[in-house]
Amino acid sequence: MTSSNDSENTEERRVSNFVRNIIEEDIAAGKNEGQVITRFPPEPNGYLHIGHAKSICLNFGVAERYKGQCHLRFDDTNPTKEEDEYVEAIKEDLRWLGFDWGEHEYYASDYFDQLYDWAIKLVEEGKAYVCDLTFEEMKEYRGTLTEPGRNSPYRDRTVEENLDLLARMAAGEVDEGKMVLRAKIDMAAPNLNLRDPVMYRVLKMAHHRTGSKWNIYPMYDFCHGQSDSIEGITHSVCTLEFEDHRPLYDWYINALGIHHPQQIEFARLNIEYTMMSKRNLLELVNEKHVDSWDDPRMPTLSGMRRRGYPPQAIRNFCEAVGVAKANSTVDFAWLEHFVRNELNKTSPRFMAVVNPLKVVIENYPEDQVDELEAVNNPEDPEAGTRMVPFSKVLYIERDDFMEDPPKKFFRLAPGREVRLRYAYFITCTEVIKDAATGEITELRCTYDPETKGGNAPDGRKVKATMHWVSVAHAQQAEVRNYNQLFTKANPKRGKKGKHWTTNINPESREVLTECYIEPALAEVKGGERVQFERLGYYCADNQNHTRKAPVFNRTVTLKDVWAKMQKKG
Ligand code: ATP
Ligand code: MG
Repeated sequence: MTSSNDSENTEERRVSNFVRNIIEEDIAAGKNEGQVITRFPPEPNGYLHIGHAKSICLNFGVAERYKGQCHLRFDDTNPTKEEDEYVEAIKEDLRWLGFDWGEHEYYASDYFDQLYDWAIKLVEEGKAYVCDLTFEEMKEYRGTLTEPGRNSPYRDRTVEENLDLLARMAAGEVDEGKMVLRAKIDMAAPNLNLRDPVMYRVLKMAHHRTGSKWNIYPMYDFCHGQSDSIEGITHSVCTLEFEDHRPLYDWYINALGIHHPQQIEFARLNIEYTMMSKRNLLELVNEKHVDSWDDPRMPTLSGMRRRGYPPQAIRNFCEAVGVAKANSTVDFAWLEHFVRNELNKTSPRFMAVVNPLKVVIENYPEDQVDELEAVNNPEDPEAGTRMVPFSKVLYIERDDFMEDPPKKFFRLAPGREVRLRYAYFITCTEVIKDAATGEITELRCTYDPETKGGNAPDGRKVKATMHWVSVAHAQQAEVRNYNQLFTKANPKRGKKGKHWTTNINPESREVLTECYIEPALAEVKGGERVQFERLGYYCADNQNHTRKAPVFNRTVTLKDVWAKMQKKG
């Protein structure tokens, strides 16, 4: 244990994390009295995905490291897309990842009264006005990156008129789209976000927390910084697309003269073969390309949990990815590498046959059953051993036999001897086929009773060790194997200019119903992670799995593609 922790710590030191550097400098300079208060601000309009995990690990991570606190704040300013279902799902995912916000659970909607008062203050000071331009007109007045914008004809309304109109907007007397409240900044500002941005819009819609109290809702930019300020956030860490919004973030805070958190932007996490925007994920769910938000093919935390990813693997991955200023896309194999590492240390091994071929051991007594000792986890001596029943009729993996093997195939073939794991050496003596189709239906073999446990007393060797189950003792199970959800590493652009969903992999899920598992494996509970020897890591489905009808999701195969790529350089 110690050695692996040591190596993880060394790894950590090599990873760049410029946010930590900024915070350390601030602490050293005595800024914010040396305090560190961060926040994770999800919008409750979808489930969390692995991209969010990066932000979570960063925000909660620095809070933990510098003995500060991290707030969970639901950024619920848009009543059209937000639901309580998402709030609950987000909390569940955060807990699962292993983070605790304690009493610091907040909602931007709790600040609506304060924000409204601040809006009035800005109007009174001549820094905000009510504008009647339509959305299209506003866009036209805004100008472009190369051309300055033009002042709205409503820009010079008196304070009294503005206060009256704002009150009417809030009271529900103004129709949606007819008026907005805008900050009076500078229509010629090089940064378009400063060209009199909208602060409030009319939306006559119930909110999941404030009900029908409000007819106007603040825009993200007018809400986020002030929410940070109210909570005393010291470092407001967000993704790069907000860099252009920082001048506005600062403008509002300065105009209001309130506590000024520091906004710091970092690069989003992007992963190959993965779509990460909630809007796209919602489309996958709504259009039934996947079963649900927690479909094991989804990059959501709930999907990854269901698939069997250990939370620690996700945390280790986020740490290794590091925190940078430049956007990049990381290899999917890298994420799987962390999943495998964690599962290798922690998951018990079992035998399961997912594509069965019957084997009859001709010289094995009809009614005999051997209980053979099997190691639960070679990586963890404390995991102990279990007994596996062996009898006359077995299943082996169909792929482990070839009637006419090529040179490099070392597994079972006619006349050849192999080892059955934890059991005996067997030799194939006869191949039985379906007369009509020619398909191999059964193998006849003999076993050597002297090789019990898997070693020959005369020291003779075999070239293959195979897994198996006893037909009489095995339990039938369903196994779901997953592949990438998309056929393209960058799935954002559809085939030949078509919609991105044309990149969905039609073979992203393979369901095998004729699988057989050893008796001990039938005892695992939904959500438990195991290794099927020689096949991969699997997780008992956390929704459909039962003792009588087991269902396993393939978490990841055994082959570490990432490690291989690293070796090649
Ligand atoms: P999406 O694009 O999936 O809709 P979002 O940014 O709109 O994401 P929010 O709920 O607003 O979703 O995100 C909460 C926090 O998570 C924000 O601080 C956001 O910057 C961060 N975040 C979202 N996606 C990523 C990502 N891919 N990598 C890192 N951080 C992310
Ligand atoms: Mg967002």
